[in-house]
Amino acid sequence: MAMRRPVLAGNWKMYKAAREAALLAREIRQGITDALLDRDVVLAPPFTSIAAVAEVLRGSAIGLAGQNMHPEIEGAFTGEVSPVMLKDLGCSHVILGHSERRQLFGETDEGVARKAPAALAHGLTPILCVGETLAERESDRTMEVVERQVERALRALSADRAIGTGKVATPGQAQEVHAFIRKLVDRSHGEAAAKALRILYGGSVKPDNIGDLMAQGDIDGALVGGASLKADSFLKIVHYPKG
Ligand code: PEP
Repeated sequence: MAMRRPVLAGNWKMYKAAREAALLAREIRQGITDALLDRDVVLAPPFTSIAAVAEVLRGSAIGLAGQNMHPEIEGAFTGEVSPVMLKDLGCSHVILGHSERRQLFGETDEGVARKAPAALAHGLTPILCVGETLAERESDRTMEVVERQVERALRALSADRAIGTGKVATPGQAQEVHAFIRKLVDRSHGEAAAKALRILYGGSVKPDNIGDLMAQGDIDGALVGGASLKADSFLKIVHYPKG
C-alpha cells in the first residue's frame, strides 16, 4: 500500500470552455503546496480546453488527461481524437471507458480493450474505468460486472485504475471491490503487477469523504467529477491528510 503513490484526478467532463478552464487550472496550480511531493495530481479538461490548460500547467508536475481517445493514430473517424493528438497537446494521461462513455455513448469492453494498449504505445497513462451501475449493485451483480470489465480490458496489457459511479460507496464497499480487482489482476498478470497497480475510486468523492476512502488499503486515489470543478473543493481533496 505505502509503496503506491496516490493519484488525485479531476474529471471536468463537459464543463469549462478554454478561458474558464485556464482560470481553474491556474487556481489549482497556485493552490497546491507540497502535496506533489508524495502524490500525483491530474486534470482532465474537455478536448477544446486542453491546450489552454497545458499552457497554464507548463513546468509543473501536474498531469494532463484527455477524457477519451480513439485507438488509431489518424484516419476517417469524424469527431474522434487520437493518442498522438493528445500527446501533441502535452497530455500525460487519458481516461478510458468512463461510466458515462459506457452508458451514454455505447462504449464497450472491446473498445476499451483496444484503446488501452494504444494509449500506452503513445506514452499516455490510461486511467481505465470499470464499475457497476446502481441497478447492477442493487441486484448483487457488482463483482460479476467488474470481473468481466477488468478481464476484457486487461487482456492486452497491465492496467491502471477503476471507477465507481452514481451514489457514493462506503469506504468498506469501495475497498471490497478494489481488493477484488487487485486479486483479479494478480491472477491474470502476476503479483508484481497487482501490487504496483494503482486503483482509484470514483463516484461522488468530496473533501469530507476522501480521508476515509484513502485510509483503505486498496484505494490508491480518486477520480473526482463534480468536486473537481471548484478549486477550493479539489484542493481540499488533493491535500487530504495522510493517516
Ligand atoms: C467522474 O466523473 O469521474 C466522477 C466520479 O464523477 P462524480 O465525482 O461527480 O461522481
